[in-house]
Amino acid sequence: VIQPTATTEHVILTTLPEIDRLIFGEADPFRFEAAEEARLRLSFVRDALLLHREGCPEYGRFLERLGFEVETLQEPADLDRVPQLPTSIFKRLTLTSLPVSAMEKRCTSSGTAGTLSVVWRDRTTLDRLLGSLRVGIGLIASWFDDEAEAINLGPDRQQAGDLWFSYVMSLVELVSPTRHCVDRGELDLAAAAGGLLMALARAAQVALVGPPALAVALAEDIQRRGITVRGGDRLTVVTGGGWKRDRESALDKGAFRRLMVETLGLEGEERVRDAFNQVELNTIVMECEHHGKHVPPWLHVTIRDPRTLQPVPPGVPGLLSYLDPSAASYPCFIIADDVGMLRSDPCRCGRPGRTVELIRRVEQMESWGCAIKMGQAYLQPAG
Ligand SMILES: [Zn+2]
Repeated sequence: VIQPTATTEHVILTTLPEIDRLIFGEADPFRFEAAEEARLRLSFVRDALLLHREGCPEYGRFLERLGFEVETLQEPADLDRVPQLPTSIFKRLTLTSLPVSAMEKRCTSSGTAGTLSVVWRDRTTLDRLLGSLRVGIGLIASWFDDEAEAINLGPDRQQAGDLWFSYVMSLVELVSPTRHCVDRGELDLAAAAGGLLMALARAAQVALVGPPALAVALAEDIQRRGITVRGGDRLTVVTGGGWKRDRESALDKGAFRRLMVETLGLEGEERVRDAFNQVELNTIVMECEHHGKHVPPWLHVTIRDPRTLQPVPPGVPGLLSYLDPSAASYPCFIIADDVGMLRSDPCRCGRPGRTVELIRRVEQMESWGCAIKMGQAYLQPAG
């Protein structure tokens, strides 16, 4: 019988797939130069492609019809050629690479158009998602697991159907003791403000987590009631989920951060961070102190021309698309409904690697729709 010791733990970690050593290891994942990072991704994506080609018949047929051979993936530049699925496909088809008996969670999102996207995840895939959250939290230097408390503003009434979003929010609980402020779908503003003051009185670090619209509601309530909050360097506001249906009242990023700094007494705008994720993506992308959204090394991002779907250079906006080899249970090779760009300049925080900027959601009926529909035509069930 092998007793667990530091040595056996080390052995276990070194026999893990390389991607897991990056996601779960102690070393800072944001340490690689571009070429090294791209080579790692090439190997992760190749392994994932073999898995999904075998495991997911629809994706296997998709590759076949496009004449795509995994073996032709030789250079990091080839990654942009890997066939990707429009995320809308998850509204119509169940794409899985493992038997349902191996699955742990059926993840759904209401999306903005009202139709459900369904993505199945097994334990490994969920663990890696949580791992990516920890990696993102690592960008908040002062936030240590053992001394942080979280206030979860939760999804609001309008987003109650968005199960994926609440799930991602609930992951915070696994990282820090968490207080929930939503009662029967309603944010209890008084409880949130009280919880925040209590947490600041007893914990070294506090995170206020929720969608931006709810953070604004709390800030306005705090102002209205004349409460003084001294967040200083001990409070971090982490937003996620975007504005969704609250877009008419959406503040621009600068105005949002200033409101948070003023009402919560934060030492500066670096205490306000945004996290990005969507149900079809298995990695959470978090902002650094300079609001660069740092893409973890295992996640490949290609920005595509909306009409031709060809890759565009850094600094040029286009459709965001991903190759996420951290998903084992479904082919996470997707073209999203977001317009964004890869930054061409290095982030001011000095970390190497890529940062991505989200610009906006694609409106329905934009001209790129045709290109996406062509992609879908390859995915009609066989027959
Ligand atoms: Zn940065």
